[in-house]
Amino acid sequence: MTTAFYSHADCRAHDMGRGHPECPQRLAAIHDHLIATELASALDLRDAPLATAAQIERAHSTRFISALQASIEPLAASGKHLALDPDTSAGPGTWNAVLRSAGAALAATDAVIDGHAANAFCAVRPPGHHATRHQAMGFCFFNNVAVAARHALDARGFARVAIIDFDVHHGNGTEDIIAGDERILMASFFQHPLYPYSGAMPKGTNMVNVPIPPYSRGSVVRAAIEQMWLPRLDDFKPRMLFLSAGFDAHREDELGQLGLIEADYSWITQRMVDLAERHAQGRIVSCLEGGYNLGALARSVAAHLRALAGVAP
Ligand SMILES: [Zn+2]
Repeated sequence: MTTAFYSHADCRAHDMGRGHPECPQRLAAIHDHLIATELASALDLRDAPLATAAQIERAHSTRFISALQASIEPLAASGKHLALDPDTSAGPGTWNAVLRSAGAALAATDAVIDGHAANAFCAVRPPGHHATRHQAMGFCFFNNVAVAARHALDARGFARVAIIDFDVHHGNGTEDIIAGDERILMASFFQHPLYPYSGAMPKGTNMVNVPIPPYSRGSVVRAAIEQMWLPRLDDFKPRMLFLSAGFDAHREDELGQLGLIEADYSWITQRMVDLAERHAQGRIVSCLEGGYNLGALARSVAAHLRALAGVAP
């Protein structure tokens, strides 16, 4: 079995305007690098389907889903743009991109559970981990990872899953959705202080939140993972892992001030592969979150994929 790679052309049609860091070129950079390094040939490339409202309702309120659809689906016909907050706007391609992003996470979850892939990576945008139960924010519309984790629990009958978030920003949306849901353990590190300025005080006992000071290097993050994440995760024994895979903690990324490099993403991913082997028959679904320096993003995703696919560098 191979590592599945889910994406869709619709995810590049979501455009928040000139100069916005969460840009369509992010996916092009990842794809080009996979071709250039021939890593693409080691992956099973698949098109993401559209998620349904019923699937998204496992993580978001019906009222929020309906309101978002009513405001941004008509943009496809009108050609207009709509600002949802100072960082987040929708345009003609946004609604389909949003549904493809969540749909990728859902299809990847089913493929891994059904044994059609060993694990999976979703190269999608918009990202999801800032989207709360009732609100789009921080470049995010629906919370792809939370939707997929709830699908594994509620539709596929899993008893316990883990969400691992290594984006430089705190996954406040994921925390908002899953706090108090003891079937999910969320482990994250994030630069603190940094947008969205939350996370230092966890909202639930099912959170392992590790704030990291600005200008820390990978060694600090690795120690935190070994000392704070892994003991809790091994006690919890998740049956499946969902990764909020942001690559903006890279030292070349200007949206954060941490100092990770590609080797750190290899190391983190390998720890998660080992964890999944111990408890979850290797089941991992990883979804792209942040990562805004195009070169660093492409190289870091490749490092992540090599570890997922067991391909030597
Ligand atoms: Zn981020």
